[in-house]
Amino acid sequence: MKDFTKPCIIISKCIEFSPCRYNGEIIRSAFIKKLKPYINFIPVCPECAIGLGVPRKPIYIIMDTNRKRLIQTSTGNDLTDEMINVTDSYLNSLGDVEGFILKSNSPSCGVKNVKAYSNCKKIEPVTTTASGFFGAEVMNRYPSLGIEDEKSLMDMRIREHFLTKVFTLSRFKRIDNIEDLIQFNKDNKLLFTAYNPGEKHILDEIVSESKNKSLTDILNKYLNHLYKIFIHPQEPDSNVDIIMDVMNKFSSFISNQEKLLFMENIQRYREGRITLSASRTLLKSWMIRSGNTTYVSQSFFNPYPVDLMGIDHIMD
Ligand code: SF4
Repeated sequence: MKDFTKPCIIISKCIEFSPCRYNGEIIRSAFIKKLKPYINFIPVCPECAIGLGVPRKPIYIIMDTNRKRLIQTSTGNDLTDEMINVTDSYLNSLGDVEGFILKSNSPSCGVKNVKAYSNCKKIEPVTTTASGFFGAEVMNRYPSLGIEDEKSLMDMRIREHFLTKVFTLSRFKRIDNIEDLIQFNKDNKLLFTAYNPGEKHILDEIVSESKNKSLTDILNKYLNHLYKIFIHPQEPDSNVDIIMDVMNKFSSFISNQEKLLFMENIQRYREGRITLSASRTLLKSWMIRSGNTTYVSQSFFNPYPVDLMGIDHIMD
């Protein structure tokens, strides 16, 4: 069983951690509950951090002529500066993290699709694509990390990408010698090829040219390109190409019925109805049966803990 390092993820506190929403409620999420044993979650509530109580009157983004403001419209209180200061001080003191899961649609935590109004009457939003104050600063400072809201993570493809990224980054950050980096690069060969063959080639070069170079320089250079690998989610076609290629290597150990089941799963994956987990599991079982376990340690088949692979259909 592969040993996974727990990624550190900042999460909006009202998601499964505390009833700190403006109305005293908590957001329940079966997915976050499932993640808790595998992630070091660090909950934060920016609105509580600026001194607002629970419950509280709601706050909104109001587009002033010059700048975006955070206003408690029922009292007229302008909380913009407090929120900017608290966000800065929180993020300035933040240690190493792999990602963020933030509350959707919040004027504080939201990363996208937040409503903003032209005035305190809030009749019609001027935009529905603003970012909350905390969410916007997170995206500004950490463009290469995993940043999603809880609603986006209900999409299987986004969820798979997010988990793959944060668990891979977490493993990378544990590396403290060149031998481990070589092994890491080797174990991720298929995964990186599926994500971005060009960047994967650069990572190979960095490793092969590492002799007599400073480990810190090599790791920094490697990390920069690792971030580039994960800019976009994998294309289903690249994943299918790789999984078919490996499957063909084991075809003599597979019955026609098994092949049929495998191809059905691949088709359902192409149609966005399931993740790749079912096909990965089948393929792994054939590898073990064949006695050829060359590929079993490839992260492509184990990008994150196996318990999290059975959550294709979790709906919150
Ligand atoms: S969305 Fe953010 S600011 Fe609002 S209650 Fe949740 S954690 Fe607090």
